Amino acid sequence: MPNGDAAYIKKLNRSLIISKIVEAGMISRAELSKVTALTKATISAQVASLLEEDIIIETQQDYSNVGRKPIMLSLNETAGYALGIDLDYGQISFTLSNLLGRPVSSDKVKIHDTNYSNILSVLVKKINEYKDKCLMSRYGLIGIAISIHGLVTTDEIIHYIPRLQWHEIALKEDLEAAVKVNVYLENNANLLAFAERAYTHHKSDNLVCITLRSGIGLGILINNKLSKGHDGYAGEIGHMIVQPNGELCACGNKGCWEKYASESSFLKNLSQRKQVRNMSFKHIEEELNRKDIETHQEMENFIHYLSIGLNNVINIYNPEILIIDSELLSRYPDSIQKIKSSLSSSISHYRELLISSTGKKAYELGACALVIKHFLEITMPNLVYSESTESSLLK
Ligand SMILES: [Zn+2]
Repeated sequence: MPNGDAAYIKKLNRSLIISKIVEAGMISRAELSKVTALTKATISAQVASLLEEDIIIETQQDYSNVGRKPIMLSLNETAGYALGIDLDYGQISFTLSNLLGRPVSSDKVKIHDTNYSNILSVLVKKINEYKDKCLMSRYGLIGIAISIHGLVTTDEIIHYIPRLQWHEIALKEDLEAAVKVNVYLENNANLLAFAERAYTHHKSDNLVCITLRSGIGLGILINNKLSKGHDGYAGEIGHMIVQPNGELCACGNKGCWEKYASESSFLKNLSQRKQVRNMSFKHIEEELNRKDIETHQEMENFIHYLSIGLNNVINIYNPEILIIDSELLSRYPDSIQKIKSSLSSSISHYRELLISSTGKKAYELGACALVIKHFLEITMPNLVYSESTESSLLK
């Protein structure tokens, strides 16, 4: 066998072994050999080098009355840290996770303008603070991924962020030059899909996520790969026309889906109807609970338009799992049932329709998972999210 092939196979085996260790949490060498179908000699050699690199650790289980338990292997979760950043309009959110994707530190910074160099300096300052926090670990800050609420090219250039009015921005290059850490840029809906797969739906090979938070975005993950289109812009589903000659959208067309079925459109319509400014989701939940007619009618209208678009998405993708990320719907207990009953076509098929449980942190968590994937050189990390572990692991 030529050397190149041997090196490639070694790399594939390493990736498989790490994936299985992450998935299992703790596993013995013998079990690892079974689940990977690799020989004991291969496992032994690979494990030795992973131990050497401090990527994994050994734990000697306690003696039990049935004899000595085997030495277990697990990922050395504090060997390095990933930083996930959500770059939203008016606010930047940061979450630092360990190598198992468990958040160990997070915070938010309010942004009062949209000027690129001002925002870049805020990012550099915060990233350097996080980098310092990780100095004591073996690999320190292993990478940064940033959730972009706009179009990102396949070369990770920001093509356009509507709310910040940024065009053709080389944020990755600028940040990497300033902080000397690998930076990945990814669309927010894509990171949502990544988070759902990495943290919750470990078995899914066909997952479609729709976020309704500001506009409407779509993330498509098929066989653990994001489907991004030719330039990287696939998933701008908010601009699918659902109402011919409807409301004018900032994109230049009329009747775009997000003018009818995004949370911001719902808030705008209900505020106008009730003549109340700045309605909060908590307030809307209270109105729904006390059976307020106007709020319920607006909700029916919202679900009607949401279902029109979902019907189209389902017919394009025939998804196994379709996840909707929406704070509004998560506060309305009947939402899933109402949506399902509006999707009654004999042709459209999906296996599961769910409201996202990852919540507001989904973009940052997806970003952390993406960094971990790159660092460990595996296809997809199977992680577990638990809020209770937050702030307790950073040493
Ligand atoms: Zn539009």
